[in-house]
Amino acid sequence: MSRSRAGAGTTGRALPVPCADGAGDRSCIVCRQGCDTGLAFIGEAEWSMIGLALLGIPAARAEKVVVRQLAKTHGITEPGFVPEGEVIVLVSVCRSCVDTSGSGFPLGPISTGQVPAVRPAN
Ligand SMILES: [Zn+2]
Repeated sequence: MSRSRAGAGTTGRALPVPCADGAGDRSCIVCRQGCDTGLAFIGEAEWSMIGLALLGIPAARAEKVVVRQLAKTHGITEPGFVPEGEVIVLVSVCRSCVDTSGSGFPLGPISTGQVPAVRPAN
């Protein structure tokens, strides 16, 4: 396990992905200030939670964020359940929080409808 390095090597593989409707609430998930930048975690639901943890979100809150968003984007209504396989979790996060986290995640403007994809490093 190399959890602390899970974000390493992702920046070079970032590709723009379209924002899901209604995803991203335009406030930074870490500091909760308004922001127009974000990224999309693409991978198994667990990866999104790891990515949020790398941004400094406590695990319990990260799980809630992921479950809530997947409920919207994948129609999962049963609490605590996430879909199998690859999912997209869009996160609004500001530049200074990414810098503070040291995750090195790429960021893109949400207003253009495209944000970089962040996939788990192998
Ligand atoms: Zn922030």
